[in-house]
Amino acid sequence: MRMTLCPLFSGSSGNSIFLSCGGVRLLVDAGMSAAREEAALREIGVDVRELDGVLVTHEHVDHVRGLGVLCRKYGLPVYANEGTWQGILEKESGIPARCVRTFYTGEDFYIGGVDVRPFAIPHDANEPVGFAFSCQGMRCGVATDIGHISSGWMDAVSGCQALVLEANHDVEMVERGPYPQRLRRRILGRNGHLCNADCAKALLELAKKGTRAVSLAHLSADNNLPELAYNTVCEALSGAGYAVGSDISVTVARRDRVSDMLILEGEEADAV
Ligand SMILES: [Zn+2]
Ligand SMILES: [Zn+2]
Repeated sequence: MRMTLCPLFSGSSGNSIFLSCGGVRLLVDAGMSAAREEAALREIGVDVRELDGVLVTHEHVDHVRGLGVLCRKYGLPVYANEGTWQGILEKESGIPARCVRTFYTGEDFYIGGVDVRPFAIPHDANEPVGFAFSCQGMRCGVATDIGHISSGWMDAVSGCQALVLEANHDVEMVERGPYPQRLRRRILGRNGHLCNADCAKALLELAKKGTRAVSLAHLSADNNLPELAYNTVCEALSGAGYAVGSDISVTVARRDRVSDMLILEGEEADAV
């Protein structure tokens, strides 16, 4: 049995992650157009009709853009908490009632044999969450759009062997960059996005608890570079004695194309 986590798109232009385990196939967010979501899934050999549902982290457009069309076209069940549903339905009124599923933040629920744990994250949306998934002794998680490190979400993803974790920006690039002051404050604020250095710091703690594969995600196009995020995280891990590539694999999720998969088999985690 394997658990697969595959970022299809990652960044402010659209986010979507495919997860499969034990015959269950899910999307976390559908932030690109339905056509692009379908094409990306096809690329990894998945027909959108085989999905068991879409889980939504929060209502920002880069996480829900394709949702309405996917629902209307395929009747996919969509799982979100009440706050997120409110946010979605304010902008997208055409979601058929039969597609609506509501979960409670902090309460596990099952989709087939996959235990889903939605956990609260600090971000400027109605009721934003990340997800931890457990299936047959394997555990993986998705945590992006996080303003700062907090024990709440760190505890929730602790023990995840594979993780999609935000490395949004380099603080210096934001401070020197072209963004207006208001936007800079939002990104750097406690409910904005996680910077490379904090991602590295979080990952050092999580590696101690068993994280063996990570995909750095939701990179800013203007305030980060894939190499910079990668090097910041790898230097921190190496400095703490981890051999990157064997103790822990690190990859970077791409903005507009399918990225490396994280695959768990029993206790093993590798990026391929
Ligand atoms: Zn957001
Ligand atoms: Zn986002």
